[in-house]
Amino acid sequence: ISFLQALPKAELHTHLNGSIPLPILQELAHAFLDKSSVNGSGGVSAVSESVKAGIERLELGVELNEIHDFFSLFPAIYALTSTPQALRTVTLAILEAFLDGLKPQCTYLELRTTPRETPAMTRREYLEAVLAEMEKFDPEGRRVNLIVSVDRRMSEGVVDEIMDLAIALRDEGRRVVGIDLCGDPLAGDMYGFSKHFRRAKAAGFGITLHIAETPDSPASETLHFLESFAPTRLGHATFLDEEAMKIVFDRDIPVEICLSSNLLCKTVKTLDDHHIRHYLQQNHAIAICTDDTLPFRTDLLSEYALLLAKPPLGLGLSQEEVQEIANMSLSCRFI
Ligand code: 5GP
Repeated sequence: ISFLQALPKAELHTHLNGSIPLPILQELAHAFLDKSSVNGSGGVSAVSESVKAGIERLELGVELNEIHDFFSLFPAIYALTSTPQALRTVTLAILEAFLDGLKPQCTYLELRTTPRETPAMTRREYLEAVLAEMEKFDPEGRRVNLIVSVDRRMSEGVVDEIMDLAIALRDEGRRVVGIDLCGDPLAGDMYGFSKHFRRAKAAGFGITLHIAETPDSPASETLHFLESFAPTRLGHATFLDEEAMKIVFDRDIPVEICLSSNLLCKTVKTLDDHHIRHYLQQNHAIAICTDDTLPFRTDLLSEYALLLAKPPLGLGLSQEEVQEIANMSLSCRFI
């Protein structure tokens, strides 16, 4: 573990609302439930019930039958992170978990999140809360930056608003370095989104796309992403066909690899079957990442430990190989 801990490395694929340390979420849930029982008329509201059920599910350890089950976890979490203060609390906890404390996980973090509008805040206020905490934590701006996520279920109007916001914040000197496309991998029609992503790329942002995440992800959509969205990095890239794989190799587009996430969402059966093997064989740039530490009960050192552990528990790579992979993650940063 000391070898892995000392290794300079970047975490480049971590979703804010999927990476809240469980004790912090439990504190937010207690405060939320106390407040709703004081404000309520004695009965338990549907939202409180869903928060309770969601937290219990996370406490017990999430069992997923398939990747779509995963997205049902978020409404309960979102109920607890719907104010600027709650967002600041969870952002700080995540920064401490990755970058500080007794066991820092990485030397550099690109944290991503989808700005939500709630009764308590606008999308701008959402992003400002997260950015304020990042800037306070790392005043020199060397250890953490923000990627703004766009959800596949959004309307084009909202996507346009988010791109405007990301550009405006960056122009004000805030720490926004990239744009991500995430959300339920089969939702939405992605053809209208390409012009917005090209605009973001032209404005100087790194672009990362969740791509070919499930066996049902259409090959035509994957090719459209590669040809029209100008991606700088790709997330997962599990089910690329030969044509798409050739483009990724020819254009040297780095891939963010989330081993535990893929195994637990059952898009990959075993580590032995994992697509990381193709990328390693080709010496193609990858970054080992956690995705969502909360439901997957993982952290970055555990993901790196999977590289070192002997098969069948891990990939059985040497320390030199793991060091090279860690170096690759640093070279894939959006700065
Ligand atoms: P947030 O952006 O709200 O901070 O983080 C949670 C959101 O990230 C989820 O609602 C979902 O849209 C997205 N997300 C988290 N993990 C994954 C993943 O593995 N695949 C995809 N496609 N989206 C994800």
